[in-house]
Amino acid sequence: MNELVTQLNNENYFSPEMNMKYMSVSQYKDFVGTLGQTGCEARALAKLRGEWKEEPSIPMLVGSYVDSYFEGSLASFKAQNPDIFTQKGELKAQFKQAEEIIARIERDPLFMTFMNGEKQIVMTGKIYGHDFKIKIDAYHPETAIVDLKVMKSIRDTFFVKDLGRVTFVEYWGYDLQLAVYQEVVRQNHEKKLPSYLAVATKEEYPDIEIIGIDQGIMDVNIQSMEWKLGRIQQLKKGEVTPDRCGLCDYCRHTKVLKKPIHFSELAVGI
Ligand SMILES: [Zn+2]
Repeated sequence: MNELVTQLNNENYFSPEMNMKYMSVSQYKDFVGTLGQTGCEARALAKLRGEWKEEPSIPMLVGSYVDSYFEGSLASFKAQNPDIFTQKGELKAQFKQAEEIIARIERDPLFMTFMNGEKQIVMTGKIYGHDFKIKIDAYHPETAIVDLKVMKSIRDTFFVKDLGRVTFVEYWGYDLQLAVYQEVVRQNHEKKLPSYLAVATKEEYPDIEIIGIDQGIMDVNIQSMEWKLGRIQQLKKGEVTPDRCGLCDYCRHTKVLKKPIHFSELAVGI
């Protein structure tokens, strides 16, 4: 295979080869976790090696449906996901709702202005010396970075020990995602751009917002990645043994019992 073939592009962005070569925000979250989801090194590595596959859930597919509409690839999304149709060939209820979400977004001029950037722009850069790839939903050169999210709710808050209640942005690590996008864009175009989440909800009457994040929080997010990236690199190279979270689907599926446990161990971490 020559060098040209192995360059990162929209087609091979999610390929096993490119996932091994580059870090991405979703990979980072798989290893490290977010406030809302425990990371699991063993599962993350198994995914990278093609030994573990997670089928997208219906709520995830609803998000992808809306994403692909704005990306201009809805026809191929439908062709690749026949499960979104009933036997009669109609869209299932959740995907009719996705159509409602799209219609709601299109009714709002400001939302549409934010979505009308260059779509699915792929870039690479380095965070603390580690190669990263990003794919931006709507990129406005010189002006802004926009990531589209379809959520259950915009205003739900989540309780996190020691932090209190946080928004979905912090809970799912979307602040970190935008911070990485901003830094990689800066490395390519020498300008730190304001970065936004363009959010719509799956509620019966979808809510919509364009949400900004202050620079200080973005900077802290980048700083928080430094030592963890070193460890992930070692894991990807096979230099260290991955920790198992012991709780995720992968850990349950692959665990091998060694000895009986005491019942009080079941309450550890509560
Ligand atoms: Zn696990």
